[in-house]
Amino acid sequence: MKKANRLMAIKEAEILSEEAEPPSRALLEESNNPASSLLFPELIQFPNSKPDKTVLKIGARSLQFLRKYFPLATKDDWNNWEWQLRNSITSLKALQQILQLSDDEVRAMTVQSGSLPLRVTPYYASLLDPLDSMQPLRRSVVPVTAEHLISCGEAADPLGEDTHSRVPGLVHRYPDRVLLLVTGFCSTYCRYCTRSRLVGDQNKRHLNHEQWDRALSYIELNPAVRDVLLSGGDPLTLPDDSLEYLLTRLSRIPHVEFVRIGTKVPVTMPQRITHSLVNILKRFRPLWMSIHFTHPDEITPESAQACERLADAGIPLGSQTVLLKDINDSVPVMKKLMHELLKIRVRPYYMYQCDPILGSSHFRTPVEKGLEIIEGLRGHTSGYAVPHYVIDAPNGGGKIPLLPDYYQGRADGNILLRNYQQKIYRYPDQKSEGSAPGEGL
Ligand code: SF4
Repeated sequence: MKKANRLMAIKEAEILSEEAEPPSRALLEESNNPASSLLFPELIQFPNSKPDKTVLKIGARSLQFLRKYFPLATKDDWNNWEWQLRNSITSLKALQQILQLSDDEVRAMTVQSGSLPLRVTPYYASLLDPLDSMQPLRRSVVPVTAEHLISCGEAADPLGEDTHSRVPGLVHRYPDRVLLLVTGFCSTYCRYCTRSRLVGDQNKRHLNHEQWDRALSYIELNPAVRDVLLSGGDPLTLPDDSLEYLLTRLSRIPHVEFVRIGTKVPVTMPQRITHSLVNILKRFRPLWMSIHFTHPDEITPESAQACERLADAGIPLGSQTVLLKDINDSVPVMKKLMHELLKIRVRPYYMYQCDPILGSSHFRTPVEKGLEIIEGLRGHTSGYAVPHYVIDAPNGGGKIPLLPDYYQGRADGNILLRNYQQKIYRYPDQKSEGSAPGEGL
């Protein structure tokens, strides 16, 4: 029987029982079990699945971390994504083993009131600075007490996604495309996450197979939908079979022209980009992938190899970067990130103004900062290295692009344009048919 047919033959109940909440609740519970934590490295649980034969090369920093904190684990263990999930850091106690925490970080986790839990893969933890609480990568995943301060204008769902949700897990905001939130689980939780209201809640937000089917039926019944974005949570934390099921179902809907996957997994858990996964993904081209990169320090030998595997499989890669205060809010850092991304074949796509989720004021920059960064990129580097700077407008207004004021008005039948060197140029603009007498002169 062909694989696609065999997939269709899988009963819903079987899939539900295997992956009702991806990854399985058992795996999540195990990750919280002290026996699998860093505190007891000699008792680390070993994965059930076989590691990918062609493993990623482990960077020097990660190798050192592996030897120090997981002395009994092998390189194959490290390169097994299930092992990474099982051994993720999810408690203050485990985090204290690897980082010298500031008083503020300890307090934030002791009196944690937000809904977003702590979760960091061992791989991503190996990139954190153990001594510097202001290190950009560390600030993006380790809670601080500023998260508990709610400021004016912040909201749990600032984009109004819930009001555009037609069936659970499906957001239909634009006529021709939908957002399908296939899971509420991520390998690592970003403290500024737009969907922090949804992700990380183990009890109620993970979509099960029945809910997927309702969302898929909605898409089947809406011929205007030509583009489906799989997001969450992180879709690449789903097991291969579940992803294959979703992609198979979508590939059978005639009006769906292509599928996109939004993910941070190549950055936080590049071990997930196995050859087996890539072989599945490449069967469903055109498939596009938007990868959430935040800082140049995230581009490591591992994440570079993961992107290379995806690019070699013919999957176009774009980056999505949230502009974050004291993390990436400067021209040199953003320029370096964009350059490094191009080197690993990821096209800079969006730079987002940070959404005003609850407790996000310490991450948000003034809009002028974003404009300054675009100004510092455009003309000063390759056009491919310049992302679109956008604000996702509150209450479902969609993405609105922001540009520095290159257009300076009209004079003598010309439009006046300012270039990247602040020089003014005249362009002989055609008078549009509807323009009033005298206009454009
Ligand atoms: S990976 Fe994406 S969905 Fe998950 S916590 Fe980070 S920003 Fe949110």
